[in-house]
Amino acid sequence: MTLYVRERRIAELAVERACKLTSIVSESQQKGSVSKSDHSPVTVADFGAQAVIIGALQTVFPEDPVVGEEDSSILRKDAGLREQVWKLVQQASELDNHQAEIGKVESEEKMLDYIDWGQFEGGKVKRMWVLDPVDGTKGFLRGGQFAVCLALIVDSQVVVGEIGCPNLLVDPADESRGKGVIFSAVAGEGAFSRPLASSIDSTVPISMSSVTDTTTASFCESVEAGHSSHGQQAKIAQLLGITKPSVRMDSQAKYASIARGDGDIYLRLPVSATYEEKIWDHASGNLLVAEAGGTVTDMYGNPLDFSQGRTLKSNKGIVAASKAIQAKVLDAVQKVLQES
Ligand code: AMP
Ligand code: MG
Repeated sequence: MTLYVRERRIAELAVERACKLTSIVSESQQKGSVSKSDHSPVTVADFGAQAVIIGALQTVFPEDPVVGEEDSSILRKDAGLREQVWKLVQQASELDNHQAEIGKVESEEKMLDYIDWGQFEGGKVKRMWVLDPVDGTKGFLRGGQFAVCLALIVDSQVVVGEIGCPNLLVDPADESRGKGVIFSAVAGEGAFSRPLASSIDSTVPISMSSVTDTTTASFCESVEAGHSSHGQQAKIAQLLGITKPSVRMDSQAKYASIARGDGDIYLRLPVSATYEEKIWDHASGNLLVAEAGGTVTDMYGNPLDFSQGRTLKSNKGIVAASKAIQAKVLDAVQKVLQES
């Protein structure tokens, strides 16, 4: 039996629309970047993407709560920025033929309400969506990798995951095929990808690499040294006999790239003892890697627990790799943790 067919389709159409919105912003060279209260950047693309995705979810699944990264407080205070986002949301909703299916945002006021629908506190609930409208905002600002990420969690398990990567090469071995890939996964049904510019029916299965010897493996990590410990990750790689330099990229594009076999391992060791990873930074990637034949755990080997609210309170760090090498990677992680 094929599960969550409708949820997956709606999620994918919504993410696709949000990716188009981010492309409009990238091309306009005006990213409308402002600083949030935690000093991290947010752009008109983050707000716009959250509005179009929650707008689509509210059209089709009006009862479903959403844990989304952004809220509208900055926009409610800044009429200029609000106007910019509203134009963008309207423009993006005209670029596809899915208004009958996922609607479109009806007004500026509705747009703000949709953004704020993402303030759900999460926890142990029957069903909720988890959204990072622009994951890797810093990557987005520097023209690097970023990802539009949407996941459905049912009874604390991720059951649908979508990751749109407008700046990722369709085929790393053939640049002429251009950029823009969308990844999707459904629990128990596998992981898939297709070019963003192709039709929703054209997805093909993807899988993790079949590497068993870690000395031939490669690993990826964040660009930002403030988001994971590059030093410890280099030591882990050394213990595993990895000789290739790390591949640094922003956002959940890391999960996507190992899920399709571009790399083998994703390491994210905490730099801060108090930071709690956000569920929207990992929900989609967690399922995508699992369905592509990999394993995602925290740095102690525990599964990620999405039932603890808006953060992964009961986990520390992330280790993702194919099933065949995950135990070996975790061993190396423990050695490095004990050293420090
Ligand atoms: P990345 O693209 O891998 O650098 O991850 C981007 C995400 O890192 C953002 O969406 C933030 O939610 C998250 N982040 C912010 N501060 C930290 C931190 N101190 N440790 C780990 N992740 C963080
Ligand atoms: Mg993020």
